Formats: sequence, structure tokens, C-alpha cells
Amino acid sequence: MQIDLRSDTVTRPTEGMREAMWAAPLGDDVLGDDPTVNALEEKAARLFGTEAALFCASGTMTNQLAIRVHTQPGSDVICDKLSHIYLYEGGGIMLNAFSSVKLLDGDRGRLNAQQIAEAISPDDVHATVTRLVSLENTMNKGGGCYYALEEIEAIRQVCDNHKVPLHLDGARLFNALVETGEAPSLHGALFDSLSVCLSKGLGCPVGSLLLGKADFIRQARRFRKVMGGGWRQAGFLAAAGIYALDHHVDRLREDHQRARSIGAMLRQMPEVEDIYPIDTNIVIFRLPDTILATDYVRRLDMLRIRAVAFGKHLVRLVTHLDFTDDHLEELEKQLKKM
Ligand SMILES: *Cc1c(COP(=O)(O)O)cnc(C)c1O
Repeated sequence: MQIDLRSDTVTRPTEGMREAMWAAPLGDDVLGDDPTVNALEEKAARLFGTEAALFCASGTMTNQLAIRVHTQPGSDVICDKLSHIYLYEGGGIMLNAFSSVKLLDGDRGRLNAQQIAEAISPDDVHATVTRLVSLENTMNKGGGCYYALEEIEAIRQVCDNHKVPLHLDGARLFNALVETGEAPSLHGALFDSLSVCLSKGLGCPVGSLLLGKADFIRQARRFRKVMGGGWRQAGFLAAAGIYALDHHVDRLREDHQRARSIGAMLRQMPEVEDIYPIDTNIVIFRLPDTILATDYVRRLDMLRIRAVAFGKHLVRLVTHLDFTDDHLEELEKQLKKM
């Protein structure tokens, strides 16, 4: 049995999802008349209480579109030094938006209001102009930790005081929401734009949503076309998104439970020096200085366990829809051989 814990993106569409995809009514989304894409965008906007939504190919695209629309050349974007928009989007802030970054050092990647207030550029010709603050929730590099709503509210206040828009990279926002019980609309109201992935824990083959005001989404739609992201009968993929929002949100709790079970197994392993707190579906553990993560991952691979090296001595495991209790049992058996 192969156990793939590299990412929650490795899932295949379920039978029910495939049926929904094949049954989807289709049109041409570039021309604006794919009924299933329109239904997904309307459903998402309603769920988050935003004016509009845009269905895109990836979370990188939705983040980058937001950054492009909110900034002008010569801006800076405030974000944590571990954030996905900075580390894992190919320098898109520079390449797409001709802008710089102000990297802050948060608590496992979570920023606080005071840090942000202090980082906003003064009105000074020497400085870049701060035109965006971006948060990540849950925080991938921080091991899937999430924000307290009060902290986001305080950050919103700082952004309002300085008239700087606030973006959310919510690739795994639903993982946070099932833990806190907060409604999506609470978060929708606090950000100028939100990016939410359907292809992670929600189990879709492709797709992310960008949410925000109608005028913002209109501009993002333009830039999406410029990037070559206009797509035609995308309703096939949108149908998977609708299905996932209806059937795959609550079950994220199971992924979190299995992640905690993995944590308990790792605590028994002599080579595991430290495990990040397990708040959602991401497990990050530290090896001693004498063991390289790449070597350790290779050894896991020989036991048919797939993981990723997440730093010189850090390994990441991510639970997901295709990782079942049977896999969990097999994992325990195999880990005992390490
Ligand atoms: C996966 C991810 C994204 C988007 O990734 P794509 O692979 O482009 O869909 C953005 N932010 C975070 C935190 C992610 O984990």
C-alpha cells in the first residue's frame, strides 16, 4: 500500500465528484456563459458574503491576481517571511506586480497588528509605498496553524487606519474554519480579497477562488485573461468545486484527527526530535542535526511512505481525503521499521 502524505493536493476526484463533473452543463467562460462556472462563483460569493468571485486555475493565480490588482509598480507588500506568496510563487510579486516585499517574522508565520503597524512605509521618497498586507490562514510553513479572529480584526483596523488593503491567502481557510466553527462570511467581511483553494483539502482536481468586491473581481478577470487564464468549458472543473463545497468541508475534521494520530506515532520515534503543534492537517517534525531531511524522506520512500523535506532537518506530512484509517494503520506498521 502506497501512502502519499506529500500534500493534500494529491487526491483524486471521488466517484460522486466525477459524476457531478460529467453531468455539468457547460458554456464558454471567457464569453461569460458557462452556467456551472457562474453557479460556483455565485455560490462562493454568497458563502463568504462578498460581492463577487472568480474561479481560477490555481491558488498561485488567485494570489497573484490579487497582488497585481491591489498594487502599482514600486509598491511593497507586507507579509510573513514564511508566506507562500513570497517563497513559493516564483517571485510573482516582482514579476507580475513589479513590487517589493516587507518580510516580517511572525509567530509560526502569523503576524500581529502591532508588527504590521510598524512596518507600513512612512510617506518618504526613500521608501516603497505599502499598498498591501497579506496574511496566510492556515499557515503552511507554520505547520497549519491558524489565526484568532480578534487578531485579524485588529489587523483590519491597522489597515483601515493607513488605507492599505488586506488580502488573505486562504488556501486552507476551510481547515481553520472547521476547527474554530467560524462562518466563512466573518472572514469574507474582514478582507478586501480572499484566495481559497478547492484543490487542497477539498479534494478537487483543479481550481481556486478569488473573492472580493465586484470592481476588484472585474479587474482581476482582465488580468487573468492577460495571463492566459481565460478558460472555455471550465464548468467541468467548477462542478467539482460545487460538489466539494457541499460534501467535503465538514469532513476536514477527519484529516485533522488523523494528523493528530500521526503526531502520537511520531512521538514514539527516537529520531524525531520535535513536532510542531498539530492544529489542522499539517504535521511538521524536526530531526536531529545529524540527519538530513532529504535522507530521511528517502528512507520513508523505501517503506512506500511519501513525504517532503521542508527544511534541512524538517519533514512535512499532510493528511487528506485519500488518506484513510487503513492508511493510518499501515503507516503505523511501517514507521516501526524506521
Ligand atoms: C497550495 C498553496 C497555494 C496555491 O498553490 P497552487 O498550487 O498554485 O494552487 C497558496 N498558498 C498556500 C499557503 C498554499 O499552500
